[in-house]
Amino acid sequence: MLKRLALMCLSLCWLAACSPPDRMVHEQIYIFGTLVDITVHGVPEATARQAISAVSEDFRWMHRDWHAWKPGGALVALNQAIAAGRSQQVPDNVLPLLLQARELAHSSEGLFNPAIGSLIALWGFHSDELPSGPPPSKAAIQALVQANPSMDDLIIDGHTVSSRNPVVQLDFGGFAKGVAVDMAIQRLRSFGIENAIVNGGGDLRAIGDAGGRPWRIGIRHPQGHGVVASLETHVDESVFTSGNYERYHEYQGVRYPHIIDPRTGMPVQHIASSTVIHNDGAVADAAATALTVAGPDAWVRIARSMGLHEVMLVDENGTVYMTPKMAARIHFEGDKPEHIVLSEDF
Ligand code: AMP
Ligand code: MG
Repeated sequence: MLKRLALMCLSLCWLAACSPPDRMVHEQIYIFGTLVDITVHGVPEATARQAISAVSEDFRWMHRDWHAWKPGGALVALNQAIAAGRSQQVPDNVLPLLLQARELAHSSEGLFNPAIGSLIALWGFHSDELPSGPPPSKAAIQALVQANPSMDDLIIDGHTVSSRNPVVQLDFGGFAKGVAVDMAIQRLRSFGIENAIVNGGGDLRAIGDAGGRPWRIGIRHPQGHGVVASLETHVDESVFTSGNYERYHEYQGVRYPHIIDPRTGMPVQHIASSTVIHNDGAVADAAATALTVAGPDAWVRIARSMGLHEVMLVDENGTVYMTPKMAARIHFEGDKPEHIVLSEDF
């Protein structure tokens, strides 16, 4: 009897050890208005499901506490306190974002500026609907630009945060998805997962490989339809694309996209999209937004100061600007663009 039990035990253990560990497990979770695909392999399916469910829990509080305008979360509470000239205690899940956002605002020369929430709201983007109606008045835009809201206006003392400037309103829409993807990868790793991809509509971080082959991913088309190019990720990389086509305010045939130049208060119209590869998702996300603002004239300087090497911009005429290191990585789908401008190597 004992012998039979021992044998049964042994075969169960053997089954557990040998249940195919490299089956792809795939789930989708909704956060920040996007469906995020999570694909994992190399661990037993039960572990993968448990890990993905932990990520889903994380996404729930991120969605609440990092939201720029929906009441009930920590960021909205902080924004209300700033507008009222009060200080506010921020929780552990918001403080690191403030510090990282401040650094990224510095390295992008203020082109990534998550303190311009008032401008973003003025243009109508603090809504689930696409804004319509006439654009805001020049005077209203100028008043907010001249108030010069900046991450440097924040006084961060432990968990107590206040602002020297009451016009500061924080909007992490330009890099929250990157931070979320980084935290999701960290959570998956804590379950022993070494091969995964967390992909929010083409903005993603990939670690390990896809079962002996690299993960192969698509870069969104600048006009929003399909994929313009593809690349294979190495070891641990994030790929983020920002575009003018994603959300825009349209009035009398003119499009006012959702990425705002903090220097003028105006939506950026000259660039169709910018794509960044970097190991850190938050940096890649913030940089893709900043480079969209920088445009063809300033992108090389901003890319250098943000420590990037693999960058591609596509302008509204289809001209592609990129670093040689990016050119070495990507494969264009369909016809190769007619005009490709390579920067110096860095
Ligand atoms: P992304 O798709 O990552 O480029 O993020 C776009 C979002 O970032 C917008 O919907 C705004 O919420 C926010 N945003 C717009 N302009 C800026 C800017 N210059 N710096 C930081 N965030 C911005
Ligand atoms: Mg971004």
